[in-house]
Amino acid sequence: MPAAPGGPRLLLRRLREAMAEPVSPQARLDRIVTLIAANVVAEVCSVYVLSDDNTLELFATEGLNREAVHLTRMRADEGLVGLIAQTAEPLSLSDAQSHPSFSYRPETGEEAYHAFLGVPLLRAGNTLGVLVVQNKTYRVYSEEEIEALQTTAMVLSEMIASGELQALAPGAGSAARRAVSQRGVALADGIGLGHVVLHEPRIVVKRLIAENLDREVERLEQAIGEVRSAIDDLVERGDSIGTGESREVLETVRMFAHDKGWLRRMREAVQSGLTAEAAVERVQSDNRARMMRQSDPYLRDRLHDLDDLANRLLRTLIGHEGNGDRVLPENAILVARSMGPAALLDYDRTALRGVVLEEGGPTSHIAIVARALGIPAVGEIANATALCDAGDAIIVDGATGEIQVRPGPEIEAAYGEMVRVRAKRQEQYRALRDLPAVTRDGVAIGLQLNAGLLIDLTHLAETGADGIGLFRTELQFMVAQRMPSAAEQQTLYEAVFTATGDLPVTIRTLDIGGDKILPYMPALEEENPALGWRAIRIGLDRPALLRVQLRALLRAAGGRPLKIMFPMVATVDEFTRAKAIVEREKAHLRRHGHPLPSDCKLGVMVEVPSLLFQIDEIARAADFLSVGSNDLMQFLFAVDRENRRVAGRFDTLSVPALRAFRLIAERAAAAGCPATVCGEIGGKPLEAMALIGLGFRHLSMSPAAIGPVKAMVLALDAAAIAAVIDAEMARAGDGATLRPALSAFAKAHGVPI
Ligand code: PEP
Ligand code: MG
Repeated sequence: MPAAPGGPRLLLRRLREAMAEPVSPQARLDRIVTLIAANVVAEVCSVYVLSDDNTLELFATEGLNREAVHLTRMRADEGLVGLIAQTAEPLSLSDAQSHPSFSYRPETGEEAYHAFLGVPLLRAGNTLGVLVVQNKTYRVYSEEEIEALQTTAMVLSEMIASGELQALAPGAGSAARRAVSQRGVALADGIGLGHVVLHEPRIVVKRLIAENLDREVERLEQAIGEVRSAIDDLVERGDSIGTGESREVLETVRMFAHDKGWLRRMREAVQSGLTAEAAVERVQSDNRARMMRQSDPYLRDRLHDLDDLANRLLRTLIGHEGNGDRVLPENAILVARSMGPAALLDYDRTALRGVVLEEGGPTSHIAIVARALGIPAVGEIANATALCDAGDAIIVDGATGEIQVRPGPEIEAAYGEMVRVRAKRQEQYRALRDLPAVTRDGVAIGLQLNAGLLIDLTHLAETGADGIGLFRTELQFMVAQRMPSAAEQQTLYEAVFTATGDLPVTIRTLDIGGDKILPYMPALEEENPALGWRAIRIGLDRPALLRVQLRALLRAAGGRPLKIMFPMVATVDEFTRAKAIVEREKAHLRRHGHPLPSDCKLGVMVEVPSLLFQIDEIARAADFLSVGSNDLMQFLFAVDRENRRVAGRFDTLSVPALRAFRLIAERAAAAGCPATVCGEIGGKPLEAMALIGLGFRHLSMSPAAIGPVKAMVLALDAAAIAAVIDAEMARAGDGATLRPALSAFAKAHGVPI
């Protein structure tokens, strides 16, 4: 095998000169392929660029027929070049023509060549094209040659991404800029059109080719040393406070920071002539490409960790330019790997039109906050931060969980229309705002809001809701950096009462534990956190926490009525004990001369199925009941509310679920105890219609649901739906769902659902 004259370092030097020459982009590309061919002693060197119509086009060649340039185009899954584009991995063959994917293009004159080496042109893990060298002989390319070609490919990728080659193929955009549509999970409803703002701006490596190799080696080693000791410090301190990273993650990251293979690849990339930061990026890009194609979630997470580490290294090498003041341009769509609720609240909300996350499930805290803010949000978009550049046009569809990056004019027009239709519907709902929610046969239905942050309360006036049916106090704790003090809690509750005025508000005591983790409280290792130490269980075992909260509430409500309810109560005795704590706090305040609430009602969330079998007792003991259908259904059917794999296994409108709801409605009414439903089902028109049929007269829901539910109520005959439910429940067996029968009823009676 002939030795490469000069090796990769010399090639990179020559490429640097070629990049600096004041020539046309095509002339530069032609020069580059000639230089590469000479350097690796290949008869052929060609560059194929992936365009936005998903074809690979020959952009330059040394050795093949020059006439084929810009004429030879193939599908992105065609031939060996297509295979490389698809797998994003190098392919080295001593006899290309015997490979099953080989596709013969007569115009190129390719038949004379046997040996073939192709590498993907990658940027941030995305394939932009393919670089190929070929030889007439049946030669085997060495590991070093493959590595050198990958390094060279990086320079070409930057050239493509910079847009310099755009002019060479008029009409077709490069794949780096093509429209991308991706589906994740819907986190917060709504449609947002705007431009990308990266929450953590990507670090752009501008200097690719080393001028002084020894200096670059030194810089890389120093950066690795710094990152390692920073991680060691974090692990040794052993606290998750302030870093947000659990020890386990840090241990993994530390392991990677010492990973020999990873370090070797970066050192080799520097040795081949790249700057330290370009070497990190070069290895990171391969890793990203692997991450995007990895279907095993565990391995994908590990590759994510490695990506994080590369980012730390880059930041150490070229500094981090954060977006500091969190000021946003108009119509901003935030794109982030992950983001905490507090970070989201730091942004200027008036300019924010949407959020896109690589992580984040529907019940994540950021999703709850995005919903509260009314900002469309989508999660689980793989590689979102690499898919788009700052300033790119983007659409977030929080209803379907889709995003459109750099959408074409038709897509943009279609979404624009959708936004107009939605706005019109909202206008119709607004017109219902001041109408009382009364059914056609005169049954009044109380429609209240679920809230958790002060900003939620602005929706009261907007929607015309009758009050707050569920105020989730844990949200204040979840978005805080540290445990809110008694005074801070009291200030929040005072603000809530001021904002709600004369309207009733039901405050729920802290519902933490399970999936609601406070960043500043040590996380418990529990096998089944949903069934673990949470909510009222913590409150009763650590009464200090509950007492502080109750005192803050009682003080804040001084002189006005107060409604408090307790989450996750499983026995009447738990409620009795909670009540006793309230009485003690009241006595304490009375002793100290503080005004007490004018009326203090204590209620219970019905969300643990054991209460169904103490329903008469709990209805007699409590001043009111509120059905937490999210948890009640989770525990009744033993179906994790967060687990998408099992989410579709039962229906909330099936007979067993409806029997549970009916039992609560009937027994509460018999005991003279008001009962509300505050879980998600209360906000869905069809389900809400069924609940009214079962006897519920109060529903609490998210702000966006008030309009649709009110429209349903106004068109409904409560006696008719009750009769239909009775008849259908008597008829249905096998745990069957009443959904089709209820939908048919709504359709036949013109009830909008
Ligand atoms: C419920 O469980 O239905 C409920 C309203 O409470 P959360 O969703 O906060 O658990
Ligand atoms: Mg609950």
